[in-house]
Amino acid sequence: MPNIGRRSITLTCAALLPIPAAALLALMVRTQPGRFSRIGNDQHQPGEVMKSHARVVIIGGGMMGVGLLYHLALEGWDDCLLVEKGELSSGSTWHAAGQCPSFIADYNLAKIHHYSNGLYPKLEEMTGQATGWHGCGGIRFATTPEELDYFRLVEGIAANVGFRMQIISPEEIKRLNPFVDTTGVLAGAWTLDDGHVDPAGCCNAMAIAARTLGATIIRHNRVTGINQQASGEWEVITEQGNIICEHVVNAGGCYAGRIGAWVGVNVPITNMKHQYLVTEPIPEFIERDQEMPVMRDPYCSAYYRQEQKSALIGIYERSDTREAWAETGGQAWESENELFAPEYEPIMPWLERVMERMPIIADAGVVRVVNGASPHSPDGNPLLGPAAGLRNFWLSCGASIGIAQGAGGGKYLAELMVHGDAEINMLKVDPRRFGPFADKNYTAAKSHQDYKHMYVLHLPGEERPAGRPAQTSPLYQKLMNKGCVHAEGFGWERPKWFSLDGRQEEYGFRRNNVFDVVAAECRAVRERVSIRDLSSFAKFEISGPDALTFLNRLCANSVSRRQGGIVLAHAISTNGRIQSEFTITRLADDRFYLLSAAAAELRDYDLLAQGKENHEDVTILNLTYDYGVLLVVGPRSRELLEKFTNASLDNHQFPWLTGREIEVAGINLLALRINFVGELGWELHMPMAELEHVYDQLWAAGEDYDILDLGSYAVNSLRLEKLILVGGVS
Ligand SMILES: Cc1cc2nc3c(=O)[nH]c(=O)nc-3n(C[C@H](O)[C@H](O)[C@H](O)COP(=O)(O)OP(=O)(O)OC[C@H]3O[C@@H](n4cnc5c(N)ncnc54)[C@H](O)[C@@H]3O)c2cc1C
Repeated sequence: MPNIGRRSITLTCAALLPIPAAALLALMVRTQPGRFSRIGNDQHQPGEVMKSHARVVIIGGGMMGVGLLYHLALEGWDDCLLVEKGELSSGSTWHAAGQCPSFIADYNLAKIHHYSNGLYPKLEEMTGQATGWHGCGGIRFATTPEELDYFRLVEGIAANVGFRMQIISPEEIKRLNPFVDTTGVLAGAWTLDDGHVDPAGCCNAMAIAARTLGATIIRHNRVTGINQQASGEWEVITEQGNIICEHVVNAGGCYAGRIGAWVGVNVPITNMKHQYLVTEPIPEFIERDQEMPVMRDPYCSAYYRQEQKSALIGIYERSDTREAWAETGGQAWESENELFAPEYEPIMPWLERVMERMPIIADAGVVRVVNGASPHSPDGNPLLGPAAGLRNFWLSCGASIGIAQGAGGGKYLAELMVHGDAEINMLKVDPRRFGPFADKNYTAAKSHQDYKHMYVLHLPGEERPAGRPAQTSPLYQKLMNKGCVHAEGFGWERPKWFSLDGRQEEYGFRRNNVFDVVAAECRAVRERVSIRDLSSFAKFEISGPDALTFLNRLCANSVSRRQGGIVLAHAISTNGRIQSEFTITRLADDRFYLLSAAAAELRDYDLLAQGKENHEDVTILNLTYDYGVLLVVGPRSRELLEKFTNASLDNHQFPWLTGREIEVAGINLLALRINFVGELGWELHMPMAELEHVYDQLWAAGEDYDILDLGSYAVNSLRLEKLILVGGVS
């Protein structure tokens, strides 16, 4: 592989002067056919008349706001008003590189991307607005056997979602891009239906389509506050007057955090800086008619593609030393089309690798560097859905690849708003997957980690360290000392498996070196006794004269008629779709204890609180952080528990699917005879402060039975063995 030294690149770049943002924007305005279409437009557009009332107000006219506006109008909600403080796309959208990948390893997110990639090629013809769509496809490289396994996973998703993807050899890669050096490349994932688009043109085209359907866009009008009225309606305060509306959508891009703060909503985003550079025209590109696919290369942590006859290279640097996030970038209200000065140093090692891969680029001068801010959520997925705790306040923000997600995200969020449900499962993008634990530091640490790993395969089971531990039970350190490997869920550290001999898991898609350890945990459950910390469960008490009718109305089946009876119940939407899964114990005629998944805590609280009708006398208490939970399970669990309680635990006195208050090890607690592993066992729910005491007592006595701690790997294996399927909604 030709070794183009660091020095020559540094010299090439050093010869450039940083280009001020305004000049850069001017450069981009229609410099090339089909690229960077005009975004500055002071002429009044049809429909740009300020209103005092609207059904929906969307704050922010980037890809995420405009994509939603268009799809709300398509759904028939044309009384929607989008307010933008500058020009459309003048936040992060205008300066994006415009790639729209379809290679996504999550079924529902892949649907979002796939929808965008279906719409963008048609927009220009639909609206007359140039969008610069280039359907050149993309190739991602695999350099390890694990990455090849990963390609096979995505190949299955592609077949289901409906985008074309082929796993191709290095020779085939060379046929599609004759300039790339494939040293070390095992295979490529070739996606044939994606490409890149001019983000500003695309955003404006969707705006035209939305206006044509009756939507209104008011530019150069900043929103300065939001109030909720006693009626539940929202009052959006803008520089040009106030608007009363039913729904508000925060699509404020890098400013979404500020907008959320007005109504007490934590928007977990960090504004990250990201850079790409564009070279002079490359002779080899000029000579060739065919455009090469967008290359995505883990070795370089970069994407590179043709920008007309030039090269465009974007780097996700993996530097630990540089603060990759822009604390202040994009935060001043006044800023518009904001860019930062180029920062070569952090990207240089990765740029050198791109030159190794694509030697034809090495001698080209760099004509512009785009260093811009874009929002990033802790897991890299957008925030699309309801804001926790508020009715009709929505988020459409936090998108770090929002060009690719603008149309698809808009379509599915519009469905959710209009119909109460979307065609796809929205859990992976629901803003309520993050709770108060996702504070500024957590969000920054996670976002930074995610940014660095843009092209690093996240292997199944791999637990990345940033921002942890965010939420722990009182047993966390004790279990760590015993070799516990935790997995993070909704910020909670939850036991995954126990490394009793100090071994480390070798991650991968196949059976690995912890199989026998997990098998031993399974055997303890099937043959002896086992104990597990389940404190992360979401826990609610529902009480009041109307609690029974309320729960029976919300759920598909009826709660138990007997005191102490337990039912598994599914909350069903008005469309008949499953919203959540609860375990409900009847504690008294008018008092119920409701359990659900840790990750569902905020969603379920909203479901319960907002599902209550005005006339219903029901109180909902969130007890998640008050109660700790231990599962004691296995054929000898009864024997073990009987050492600590006088309560009768036999099948007659304490049958399956019942719960009772009993005393265990001197602590009054709620024992539920239920578990997800299909063995004799009890969940013990007690004040969080008593958890360690009860655990210690049970563990010490359990040693006579060769007790083991139980992790989630074993739980999943055991429950599947007994066909207990959970997690459809969590
Ligand atoms: C260098 C770079 C390259 C990128 N390349 C790609 C790529 O190839 N593909 C891809 O998919 N993504 C890419 N991205 C990411 C992409 O730019 C963002 O994900 C996307 O633009 C986010 O869109 P948005 O609508 O959420 O935010 P924005 O485009 O920032 O829109 C938010 C809008 O809200 C407005 N606003 C904020 N507050 C108010 C207020 N109070 N009142 C009125 N209006 C307000 C702002 O003015 C702004 O116009 C790139 C990002 C960078 C930095």
